[in-house]
Amino acid sequence: MKYIFVTGGVVSSLGKGLAAASIGTLLEQRGLKVLMQKFDPYLNVDPGTMSPFQHGEVYVLDDGAETDLDLGHYERFTSGVLSRMNNLTSGQVFDSVIKKERDGKYLGKTVQFIPHVTDEIKERIYEVSKNNPDVDVLMTEIGGTVGDMEGLLFIEALRQFALEVGKENVCFIHVTLLPYIKAAGEVKTKPTQQSVAKLRELGIQPDIVICRTEADLDEDNRRKIAMFCNVERKHVVAFRDVAHSIYECPLDLRRDKIDRLVVDKIGLGHTPAPELEEWEQFVKRVIYPKHKITIAVAGKYTDLQDAYKSIYESLIHAGAAHDTKVNIVRIDTEDVLDSNTAEKIGHVNGILVPGGFGDRGIEGKILAAKYARTQKIPYFGICLGMQIATIEFARNVCGLKGANSAEFNQDTPHPVVSIQEEQKKISGMGNNMRLGSCESILFAGTLASQLYKGAERIQERHRHRYEFNSDYQEQLQEKGLCISAVSAKEGLVEIIEIPSHPFYIACQYHPEFKSKPNHPHPLFSGFVKAALEHKMKTEF
Ligand code: GLN
Repeated sequence: MKYIFVTGGVVSSLGKGLAAASIGTLLEQRGLKVLMQKFDPYLNVDPGTMSPFQHGEVYVLDDGAETDLDLGHYERFTSGVLSRMNNLTSGQVFDSVIKKERDGKYLGKTVQFIPHVTDEIKERIYEVSKNNPDVDVLMTEIGGTVGDMEGLLFIEALRQFALEVGKENVCFIHVTLLPYIKAAGEVKTKPTQQSVAKLRELGIQPDIVICRTEADLDEDNRRKIAMFCNVERKHVVAFRDVAHSIYECPLDLRRDKIDRLVVDKIGLGHTPAPELEEWEQFVKRVIYPKHKITIAVAGKYTDLQDAYKSIYESLIHAGAAHDTKVNIVRIDTEDVLDSNTAEKIGHVNGILVPGGFGDRGIEGKILAAKYARTQKIPYFGICLGMQIATIEFARNVCGLKGANSAEFNQDTPHPVVSIQEEQKKISGMGNNMRLGSCESILFAGTLASQLYKGAERIQERHRHRYEFNSDYQEQLQEKGLCISAVSAKEGLVEIIEIPSHPFYIACQYHPEFKSKPNHPHPLFSGFVKAALEHKMKTEF
């Protein structure tokens, strides 16, 4: 197996994850089997307990691992199947070392950062390699910025690892920023030089330096960076701000033939040039669509670009499939009142209520769902969005006054969304959640079944604690709510819809974690199509 390590320099939020994912795309299109993983130097065991304000979206894998959102990029840009083994944090490393120490596994030795902690980090790379013998290239991105104290042990572990497996099998890529100083009209290379110097001080000479730039990288600067970072001139690669879409990133990096440089470095130079036609077609559809629709995302984290990352990406994928640009308006539901719902969301072609925790903005979400239902605007509820739809229907169609989720009101007279009895006994943050891929049974003749093209069973990823309360199932069904899928194991409600509405569907799982550029998720695809039809109908 060959290894690529991606580090970052100068500042965070450089697009390091996207650079790594894009290299993954290019290598995969050269016919290589690529697997990606992320090392995060923070002390949380996983990002599951972190606020989206801190960390953006928590991305959930099939096996239920709650991971960094970069793993979402990896899954969207490559086809490698990721598991909890593919996201390692310092929290996990120390947790494991301390457990081993308590179990006497170190046979009385003094337990130290080096070698015990670094060994633990290397062990993860070896383990992932061993478990995936068919993979050609394992690419590991190291979170944070070189020079951060908390990243030092990871860098040291990589240095040792490269020696152990042979440097000819390893490619180190360092992604840095070239700031543009407006007043001087100049691009500055000094931060990059210093960041590479720092990396070299730690014993790692990068093979390739990727320079994030606003504009292009001229020949002078390329030579300067090559000279002072001690790399070949052609190994200085420009990574420009892309004009329209993150899906342009692989095409941009291809301009400097990054994939060629990488395969030459790790001895896979015999692989053919990447086949990018399908990707290019997709990008074209994203950039030059025929139609345009407006979707309201009615959530809590409206100011944060990253909090609903996978949902926004899924809308782009679905939009491309229908030659449609999806314009997103983020609605802060704390501002939505009975008196202003029409003013806030009356102009949109579709309303999406995403997942979420806690009771902030809940009543506004319920109003948004009501507006979609009564005004016949396409509605798509995800996780919390399904629970909201259930509450709205119970209150306003079935007349169950005060109906609510037990999450928001323990004493509600009608807990139409509630927690399962056995879950109540489990303690510890995150331990009582339904996490990861579960199988559901779809009922024929429903909108859901039609969208999933007649599939009888589906696998989707979950991340929630509360469920549709089956005690209310009959009452809601009598008034026109249709249950179109239940979980195969427990019979829990997975999808609801309103057949008398043009498009009103909501699911308890997170479909956004399984949408890919050329394979939009069927529910997103159906939603975008319905929104487009809504627009045609209301505008002409
Ligand atoms: N807060 C809800 C629950 O725990 C919904 C979670 C979500 O939307 N991911 O069930």
